Order: sequence, then structure tokens, then C-alpha cells
Amino acid sequence: MGTPRVAVVTGSSSGIGRAVVERFAAEGIRTVVNSAHSVEAGEKLAASLPDALYVQADVSDEEQARRLVATTVEHYGRLDILVNNAGRTRPVPHADLEAAGPEVWREIFDLNVLGTWQTTVAAVPHLRATGSGAVVNISSVAGSRPAGSSVPYAVSKAAIEHMTRLLANTLGPEIRVNAVAPGLVETPWTAGSDFFATIAERVRESTPLRRVGRPEDVAQAVLAMVGATYSTGQVLLVDGGAHLI
Ligand code: NAD
Repeated sequence: MGTPRVAVVTGSSSGIGRAVVERFAAEGIRTVVNSAHSVEAGEKLAASLPDALYVQADVSDEEQARRLVATTVEHYGRLDILVNNAGRTRPVPHADLEAAGPEVWREIFDLNVLGTWQTTVAAVPHLRATGSGAVVNISSVAGSRPAGSSVPYAVSKAAIEHMTRLLANTLGPEIRVNAVAPGLVETPWTAGSDFFATIAERVRESTPLRRVGRPEDVAQAVLAMVGATYSTGQVLLVDGGAHLI
């Protein structure tokens, strides 16, 4: 048995990030739990897992993204895996162009695109040092289809997917960069929203797998991408086959 691997999962106090952390822990990967605000939930999750650490950091802020990575490396002495999961949206009907103003674009891009970029930049020297680093970015079906909670959100996910390909092209052979693109997943984000409830009904009625995704489904796919040692620059859809209809 070699030294256990170390992962950072951004935005992991709830939902998909939380499921990824729990899946990694089950695989013996030591994981850093992160959130910008939900400190209590993050600390509780880290305390429930063997050798996990909680670090509060808003990854849309460059200095805090760097501190997240630096604290990880100070604590564990290495970083093998980065999962860029922290993301946000603002539901805006696509036809309401005026409602998707610059402040909506900036808010979403600051976290989804810049947050992913600057956390990755901070992590690269450490991932490279392991000789087999892995980055997994969390996109969305909205990144490749004309769908999603708003145009700025969908475009931010398309940017993440192209960033995945561009970085995969430059960071090999020491680092692989892949993405996972979930369809509708039941998380605190989607709970209690009419917008998502309508989509959920359609998903249950007409997609091949006839159910909404669970955070564990996405975690399983993230782990698969971490283990896909000859794949880089790929986006894995985790949508129950929704793209087929
Ligand atoms: P969630 O709201 O349950 O979790 C988001 C997490 O990010 C929380 O832990 C929150 O504390 C953290 N966070 C928020 N702002 C942050 C910041 N600035 N810095 C660090 N952490 C921050 O949401 P979720 O549904 O689990 O979504 C996680 C990812 O999955 C997002 O990137 C989202 O776009 C993507 N996604 C979700 C769905 C879905 O249906 N739930 C579908 C496709 C893609």
C-alpha cells in the first residue's frame, strides 16, 4: 500500500460535493471539505470521516482559493486530486434577456468559471509533483445543451467544459483533466423549486432510466474519472440518458 491520496473537493458541505467526499473517504482517499459559508455543516462532515479536514474558503476569491490549496498541502504534504464542484446559478427564463444583466453574469462566472480556474492554477504544481494528478470539473447538461436554469449558468458550464479540454491539452502527461456533467440531481439546490419540480416530472416520465439523479450517482462518476488513467479532456454525462430524448 502506497501513501493514501489526498483530494480537495470545493463546495462540499452539501449535495454533490458532500457525496463525492463520502465516496472518496470510502476509498481511503483523505479529503478536504470546503465551503464558503456553511462552516458548521462542513466541520461536521469532516469530523465524521477518517482523516478529513475542513477549510472555509470562497473559491471565487483568488487569495482564498490559493489558501485552500496551501492549507491542504501544509496539512497532508501532498495533493493528488482536485474536484471543482462549487457552483451557483440564478434562475432566469432564457427569453427574459433583460433579467440576465451583467451582475448575474459576473456573479455566476466569478464562481463557476474563475473559481474553477484559480483553484486549478493553485493546485497544478502540487498535482504535477505526484506524477499522476487528476482534476475533475463539475459541469452540467446545460454546458452542452440549450437548457439550464439561466443562459449565464449554461454558458458558464460550457466554459468549464472547454477549459477542461484546453487544460487537459497543456497539463499532461502528469495531470489528467476531465469533467462530469450531471442532469437533474436531487440536492438542497434543487429541492423546493418549482422550476426543478417541473423538470423532475419530465425526467421520471420520459428518460431511459426513469428517475432523477442522486448525489451518489455523480460521486460514482467522479471516482470513475479519477480512475480513468488513459482518459483526459473528456466530459462524462451523468443524466440517466436524458440526452437521448
Ligand atoms: P449545493 O447547493 O447542494 O452545494 C453547493 C456547495 O457549494 C455547498 O457546499 C456550498 O456551501 C458551496 N459553495 C457555494 N458557494 C461557494 C463558494 N463561493 N466557494 C466555495 N464553496 C461554495 O449544490 P449541488 O446541487 O450539490 O451543486 C454542486 C455542483 O453541481 C454545482 O457546480 C452545480 O452547478 C452542479 N450541478 C448540479 C445539478 C443539480 O441538479 N443539483 C445539476 C448539474 C450540475
